[in-house]
Amino acid sequence: MRIPLDYQSSVPIYRQIETYLREGILSGRLTPDTRLPASRKLAQDLAISRITVENAYAELKADGLITAVSGSGTYVLPICSTSEPDLEDSRTSWPLWQQSLPSKGGIENRLSSSSQKTNLISFANGNGDPHLFPISDFRHSLQTVIRRDGITALEYGDTQGFIRLRKTITSILASQGLLTGPGQILITSGSQQALGLVCQLLLKSGDVILVENPTYGGALNLFRTMGLSIIGIPMDEDGMLIEKLEELLQQFHPKLIYTMPNFQNPTGICMDSWRRRQLLSLADRYNVPLLEDDFVGDLRYDGRTQPALKSLDPGGRVIYTSTFSKMLLPGLRVGFLVAEGPVYEKLVNQKKIHDLATSNLMQRALEDYISIGRYQSHLRRSCLVYRKRRDVMLQAVKSHLPAATVNSPQGGLFIWLRLPNSVTAEELLALAWTKGVSFTPGNMFFPNQADGQYYLRLNFASHSEEVIEEGIKRLGEAMNK
Ligand code: PMP
Repeated sequence: MRIPLDYQSSVPIYRQIETYLREGILSGRLTPDTRLPASRKLAQDLAISRITVENAYAELKADGLITAVSGSGTYVLPICSTSEPDLEDSRTSWPLWQQSLPSKGGIENRLSSSSQKTNLISFANGNGDPHLFPISDFRHSLQTVIRRDGITALEYGDTQGFIRLRKTITSILASQGLLTGPGQILITSGSQQALGLVCQLLLKSGDVILVENPTYGGALNLFRTMGLSIIGIPMDEDGMLIEKLEELLQQFHPKLIYTMPNFQNPTGICMDSWRRRQLLSLADRYNVPLLEDDFVGDLRYDGRTQPALKSLDPGGRVIYTSTFSKMLLPGLRVGFLVAEGPVYEKLVNQKKIHDLATSNLMQRALEDYISIGRYQSHLRRSCLVYRKRRDVMLQAVKSHLPAATVNSPQGGLFIWLRLPNSVTAEELLALAWTKGVSFTPGNMFFPNQADGQYYLRLNFASHSEEVIEEGIKRLGEAMNK
């Protein structure tokens, strides 16, 4: 045990040892049943006399914090307290440089703690239903990989990503009409990392980025943290308004356009194919790269499929990103991007600087798990379940929230509601919370947060039909309060 001692201090050494251990025990860092070093050993390590250590231990024993078990050793005792020790509270004060860091605060904190309320039905999250994931098959894949690849699976892998996984992704993308090659794919730690890598490579503080208005809150957080100037492109039910886009391109000379053409987060809107082509041609004319976030592109329940922007790209205009978080599990932290030309090499380099590589073990397990056939059958099953849930939620909203206006998305995970002007989403969230239901208020998704005050996003995919009915009923009660 390396106890920091100040041999010049006027505080006796035995007292310093006692104080250090006492703080450790009371803060919970030294947990009950931890075996303390034998006094002879600790004295040796610290180059002090054994009696000094024994004096410190005697004080702690007298206060009931440790006990000596004969023939075994000295152990930390459980603290007689009803509450969990709070690790942060035991710190007296943070250094000034820490105090000057901007605090997170706000909506995000409240949402993340919201899931802890018991019996809460949360429509706030951004993922599919984890219960649809075949956990036992995945366990089997993990075991197979460890047996098959041994220690190789636990070493750093290629920065670009595990080649066999990149080949599988190539076939999945080809089945969706996007022809690419493993040499154009970079595996990332979730598509969130892909967004970060692209922005860090292509933009600097003060640069303008164009986004759909509203857009994904996690992207907005990234752009704000980077000090980008975020300009929203107005939308209608077919996606961004192309004439407005052209005006903004002329006015602001953006460095990047970020878009989710399929079942956009948060609105669920799918861009029509004419606009896709127009968007591509404008980006080309104004020489602006496009970042296409296709987070739920294959979760389509009705309507005609639309080509990915990347599949219309004659080469090098679009950087495409997608993820296994929505279709499979977010905790795998495996996403990918597709790019070609000099930017691909630079993105690989950027990735190397950030985390060397995405977890080799997870990539191999995922590769073992997802053959193209398995992926497609999982997709079919998920689509059937989610389509039903979407319809149940829309019906429930019509019955319990008749004053709200709601869209009917053709795919994805979310429905988007406009409240009547009598109540803001923030006010409704406070009431909903008391009824045991939550959602994501619209201001999270707008560059100018006030624009979202009457909107809210509901995830229809992550709960069973019964839970959806109950949750929307509670929301209706909150609305009528
Ligand atoms: N893009 C969109 C639109 C998202 O909603 C999310 C997650 N909610 C991400 C990207 C990032 O997902 P992940 O990092 O898990 O792939």
